[in-house]
Amino acid sequence: MDDRKGETAASLFERLRAGSKRIVVDGETFWRVEGDSLLDEEQLRRYAQGLEALRQARAEAREAGAPLVAMTDLSAGAEGGKIIRWAPGLELSYAVLRSTFEIGGEAGYDLAVDSTRRATADWEKTCGVRFAHRSGLDASEQLRPEGVVFVVRELDAGGSFIASAFFPDDPANRRRVLIDPSFYAPDLGFDRVGVLRHELGHVLGFRHEQIRSEAPAGCPDEDTFGTINLGDYDARSVMHYFCGGVGSKTLAITEQDKVGAQKVYGPPLGNFRFVE
Ligand SMILES: [Zn+2]
Repeated sequence: MDDRKGETAASLFERLRAGSKRIVVDGETFWRVEGDSLLDEEQLRRYAQGLEALRQARAEAREAGAPLVAMTDLSAGAEGGKIIRWAPGLELSYAVLRSTFEIGGEAGYDLAVDSTRRATADWEKTCGVRFAHRSGLDASEQLRPEGVVFVVRELDAGGSFIASAFFPDDPANRRRVLIDPSFYAPDLGFDRVGVLRHELGHVLGFRHEQIRSEAPAGCPDEDTFGTINLGDYDARSVMHYFCGGVGSKTLAITEQDKVGAQKVYGPPLGNFRFVE
């Protein structure tokens, strides 16, 4: 984004509203920002305000680095906001909605199931989170079946993103990981499990690594308002977009990602023997 003199949060909002890709999900319109984030109109307005606040803050001294960027609770106040995460002990259950895979068909569904399972296993080895695939609900015809925290489904976004996710504080009806048919392309170029690792990083509350000020020019200038750095800048982070000649198409969880994730969720639960 260029530095536009005289821009206000209101004019930035209008520009983003007019210029950002619109995506309709179940009849609701969203604007795509940062490649794979879908915001409704009110969220886009707050996003524009955050970007403007960031631009003003850029003039001031910069905070020293961190590898993962966690979300903080803005409602608690801009200063000292608490980190947003899932409640301790909450099992992040999900279903992969088979009937939504209209383009990918059975093969696309199988790919989504397998990639999600491997990506969730990688996060479980990284920090203290637990996912559970409720495969018995995959055949549900409902887009929001009862009994799972979130769903994974196909959505034809015309290649606007490979996949898209949600953040822990998004409304419950927005808790869906969307898979665009471009995900199935043999020449995708990105590691498919890596794409899911990245999206599940958002689900856990981690923002894009490249929003940090250390990221090279050529990476999108994004909003760091309401985020907290958890370690040193890591150009190979799972949460880094492939931009500015850095980032990785493998989208692996790095050692620095691990340190950052454990600051939010603690060590992997598999490290413990729990006593009741
Ligand atoms: Zn992302």
